[in-house]
Amino acid sequence: MSWDIYGEKLRPGHCEVHPSVHEEYPCSVCLKETQRRQEKSEHHFLKRELEAERDKNRRLVEAGNALTKADVWGRAAAYEGWKKALAENGGDR
Ligand SMILES: [Zn+2]
Repeated sequence: MSWDIYGEKLRPGHCEVHPSVHEEYPCSVCLKETQRRQEKSEHHFLKRELEAERDKNRRLVEAGNALTKADVWGRAAAYEGWKKALAENGGDR
């Protein structure tokens, strides 16, 4: 005799996670849930990647603006900042 995850007797050929589904574990509901979880985590991963990319681009744009606006005294520092942002942008490609 086998048991489902709720501690009830499991009818033969039924899913132990979804005892009402007449399919062996993993049933089609299990597979659908797994797939949905995977898609969700992939979505989150892609979102993080895009946000990191966007932040790097923004830093480069800001550094470029600072360089354009810098007066003769601030130019060297602004140039260093811009070079750093540029390296950050191209560094992991
Ligand atoms: Zn199931």
